[in-house]
Amino acid sequence: TDLRLNDPTLLIEAARVGSKWVGATEISTTLEVTNPATGDLIGRVPNLGAAETAEAIAEAHRAQKGWAKLTAKDRSQILRRWYDLMIENQDDLGAILTAEQGKPLAEAKGEIAYGASFIEWFAEEARRAYGDVTPGHAPDKRIITIKQPIGVVAAITPWNFPNAMITRKAGPALAAGCSMVLKPASQTPFSAIALAVLAERAGLPAGLFSVITGSARAIGGEMTSSKIVQKLTFTGSTEIGAMLYAQCAPTIKKLGLELGGNAPFIVFDDADLDAAVEGAVIAKFRNNGQTCVCANRIYVQTGVYDAFAEKLAAMVAKLPTGNGFDEGTVFGPLIDQAAVAKVSEHIKDATTKGATVTLGGKPHALGGTFFEPTILTGVTASMAVATEETFGPVAPLFKFDRESEVVAAANDTEFGLASYFYSRDMARVWRVSEALEYGMVGINTGLISTAEAPFGGVKMSGLGREGSRHGLDDFMELKYLCMGGI
Ligand code: ADP
Repeated sequence: TDLRLNDPTLLIEAARVGSKWVGATEISTTLEVTNPATGDLIGRVPNLGAAETAEAIAEAHRAQKGWAKLTAKDRSQILRRWYDLMIENQDDLGAILTAEQGKPLAEAKGEIAYGASFIEWFAEEARRAYGDVTPGHAPDKRIITIKQPIGVVAAITPWNFPNAMITRKAGPALAAGCSMVLKPASQTPFSAIALAVLAERAGLPAGLFSVITGSARAIGGEMTSSKIVQKLTFTGSTEIGAMLYAQCAPTIKKLGLELGGNAPFIVFDDADLDAAVEGAVIAKFRNNGQTCVCANRIYVQTGVYDAFAEKLAAMVAKLPTGNGFDEGTVFGPLIDQAAVAKVSEHIKDATTKGATVTLGGKPHALGGTFFEPTILTGVTASMAVATEETFGPVAPLFKFDRESEVVAAANDTEFGLASYFYSRDMARVWRVSEALEYGMVGINTGLISTAEAPFGGVKMSGLGREGSRHGLDDFMELKYLCMGGI
């Protein structure tokens, strides 16, 4: 592949196992990483398993003790240098990300800034892990609460945000005084490895942040059965999340799970329609529909349904599909053929049940895993798009009459991650915000993720929160000190 980097040493074919770099050439089996836009080979990473994972966990265990003893300020300064290096190398990190994931270069660089912001935020929050002093329950007693790092954390991350899904976990974990052993998605390991290179340069002590590439089953098995690992943090599908949850039961691990979503996006008659269209494009089509907070079901009130559908199609039709490295590309390829198959299936299911394709609807003329951005009208609750996460560029438009009806429909899912609605009626804004059974609600906006806010879901969308001051707590244990004899 003709990836030209300012600093070619950021793209290395090696995993980070504790303090060692293990090169792909040193291992008998490797994984090939290809560019989804072209099918070209980017490079190889070692195919590691349980033994290397155990080694990394043992070293993470040793390293964590010294790390936790540092002052929060000392940890904070190392994290801040890591952040600075990410920003200095934003172009290269973005290029590596586009090459292995496919998203447009501008979007990839945006993800690097977003990903880095979690390291910056938690470098700041590290110093604010305050405890409490509570009035005692007896005259000679005092109650004190302190926060301490959980210990060794294992992390498993997906391919859709190859940088930010890692930093959102590593930032708070390391800031809290934990160590981390990470298994990145096999489609996008080079973004993770580049982060480990920069962590080393930032002065993060060896052994605190391992990146183990290879067999998900073997690495995940070792992580979940380990008695040393105290917490597993996972972002991915609900199916794999539930399996990992079960695997963690025998050792009673703490869990952070960011799982699937089925986000409703509701447009009421009183909405600013142009703003709603713009928000829908962002919420639906960012990363080509491949995010867990992507709008999956778009509900539009009867009075504005036709106008909304027309404006949305007009706007999306103007956005170019292509190789993420080509200037102006808005839609890159989908991650793989399985993604194309799922999108095609959902469209076919909807059209056979009466929906109309008003834009796109089929694989793109560019071939490979490119797919036309698609809009469906006349969509109903009986179609697969109503209940399953499409994870692709399909916008299904449902029609509704009443507020109570759309709130019930929006909540009629096992998922509860992100939701969105557009309205200018203040009373309705409060009513609907409180009624939506979701961890996050975007009100008159299609873009809600930021380091300052708590990201996470209810119901089968997960456990815990990432980002915000609450994100640090997820990597800390509360300890209660009962002081007697006073
Ligand atoms: P996606 O559809 O986003 O790939 P997955 O849940 O399949 O979602 O994958 C998310 C992450 O979980 C990836 O890093 C993947 O390699 C990992 N993974 C998949 N299967 C397993 C497993 N059996 N054990 C541990 N990790 C797994």
